[in-house]
Amino acid sequence: MTGHANAHSSNDAAQPSDYGFQADVARLLELMTHSVYSERDIFLRELVSNAADAIEKLRHEALANESLASKTGAPLVTISLDKEARRLSVADNGVGMSRDDLVAALGTIASSGTRAFLDDLEAKGDGGDKGRAFIGRFGIGFYSAFMVADKIEVETRRADSTEAFLWTSEGKGSFQITPLAGDRAPEYGTRVTLHLNAESDEFLEPSRIEDILREHSGAIAIPIDLVEGPGKEARRLTDGSALWTKSKSDVTEQEYKDFYQQLAGQFDEPALTVHWRAEGRTEYTVLAFIPGSRPFDLFDPARKSRSKLYVRRVLISRDIDLLPPWLRFVRVVVDSADLPLNVSREMVQNNPIVGAIRKAIASRILQELTKLASSEPEKFNSIWKNFGAVLKEGLHEDPQRRDEIFAIARFASVLRPEGERGLKDYVESLRPNQTAIYYITGDDKKRLAASPQLEGFRAKGVDVLLLDDAVDAFWVTSALGFDGKPFKSVTQGKADIDSIPALEGAAEPPPADATPEIALLTAQMKETLGEHVEDVRLSTRLRESPACLVAPDHGLDLQLTRLLAESGRSGILGKPVLEINPGHEIIAALAKKAKADRASAEDGFWLLLDTARIVDGEAPLDASAFAKRVTALLARAG
Ligand code: ADP
Ligand code: MG
Repeated sequence: MTGHANAHSSNDAAQPSDYGFQADVARLLELMTHSVYSERDIFLRELVSNAADAIEKLRHEALANESLASKTGAPLVTISLDKEARRLSVADNGVGMSRDDLVAALGTIASSGTRAFLDDLEAKGDGGDKGRAFIGRFGIGFYSAFMVADKIEVETRRADSTEAFLWTSEGKGSFQITPLAGDRAPEYGTRVTLHLNAESDEFLEPSRIEDILREHSGAIAIPIDLVEGPGKEARRLTDGSALWTKSKSDVTEQEYKDFYQQLAGQFDEPALTVHWRAEGRTEYTVLAFIPGSRPFDLFDPARKSRSKLYVRRVLISRDIDLLPPWLRFVRVVVDSADLPLNVSREMVQNNPIVGAIRKAIASRILQELTKLASSEPEKFNSIWKNFGAVLKEGLHEDPQRRDEIFAIARFASVLRPEGERGLKDYVESLRPNQTAIYYITGDDKKRLAASPQLEGFRAKGVDVLLLDDAVDAFWVTSALGFDGKPFKSVTQGKADIDSIPALEGAAEPPPADATPEIALLTAQMKETLGEHVEDVRLSTRLRESPACLVAPDHGLDLQLTRLLAESGRSGILGKPVLEINPGHEIIAALAKKAKADRASAEDGFWLLLDTARIVDGEAPLDASAFAKRVTALLARAG
């Protein structure tokens, strides 16, 4: 905190104290005040949503604190305009702020949306136009009001306090806080008054305000009034009825979309909306959305949850897990009449009713996704593209859901590189004598598709799944199979595809029987490379390439071996097997050379091993030795 009280006469309680904004806030404000951003009207969305949050917070605090109970009458947000004075204010009867609250909330950056916005700017390396284009996508929060105001005043009183304060700032590096006489402050709650700047006349027009509210805040679950000028009657703009309590047929697409945007703090379209009421032993309503785009913090384990749990329309918690981790991208509101209002967070977390609801939500979402996959495959595929990598975590973490997730999972494969191959589809188009679902794992789809290990599979028209998400290496080892067909890595063990017929015109497999020369070569190579490979043997899977690495017959898949090695657990891991292609001219030539003069052929042994490592995305064993051998080779060739 860089704030400090200044040295005005210290015994006069009404003297203002000066505080400096945190450096990041100052940066953000600089950006706001010089913004030429066209969607400046989002400031109203931010102020109204803060007002609604404050009201929900007060209702929640009142559950545990009886003295507050009298202060939770008729929640209301009031927007007032004063054309003459060029002022717009947003008032709420919510929880209010103490002096410390003010310093922390309106002097630093607390909001995760605002933080993400700043980080995004940083990543783009400019505070300029590109960044501004994203203002609307993140929730910039309170500070966005400085886009339209020269000066902002916040009058506030906490519901549990007699003290009231006035916070003022011109958005230029500092703010002031002054104690406020009782009669000038709201009884409880907050009033934010903007002194609109010269470019913001439009926000003094009632019709404009109404339009903005309809567009951005239509789904707020708190009533909103508009007072068009001093002394005028308040007029109700929205009744604040909670959207999820309505029946599905009474809700429009637009209303769902508005609600989703409020809930998610994300301003795209929902890709899937699921809304239902469960009746029976427990009664609850669920409104869930799958976002239309990937949230910026999808893979951040600490990301703010966007689930809200209400008990009869009172917000109980916004950070309880209502979803398994592999559905963490879903935004959901649950309202149940069957939970006690005064439950603590911990109690909620362990409550059997919540447990049942949690299970039901996961089932329902999987069910809806399954339906969508067959009714609107394109829409489904775009959801899978955004969130498939997260859903697949469920294959590993939640074995009970595995079959359901398998049924909707989509993969890139050799024959369908676009990533839309389903397992059912794969199993239905097996080649004659094919008994397994083949896959290769790695972190780069393009490199996977070019792997020499695939050559024999290609020649036989056998499709291979290209699994390039980090989570893939894990679930494939624990999954037993799909539809009775086991998963099998093409980099693991002997290729068992000999009995599958080749496609017409495909390259011939290498000869199965070694000539004496080749047998000798294999033995010599094993002797030389033995420290680094488990075995050297003849390949049946290669066609165009001279050599490749595979995992030993009973060893772990190569990619999993690499992941474990990266995490420092290489001690338990075996060495790979080097397979050579006896039909390849390089191998034939090397065999001849090795027979005549073994020492002169050893460079070739090492180069075969190193190039096989390189096509797998690994470094040569010894980079400088590798470079020397290549140089020597070039010298001979030149
Ligand atoms: P966010 O709403 O994402 O937390 P904001 O920048 O919109 O970020 O607001 C910052 C903080 O200021 C809020 O978290 C809240 O603590 C406080 N605040 C803003 N407006 C109000 C209000 N009307 N009543 C009470 N607290 C408020
Ligand atoms: Mg806010």
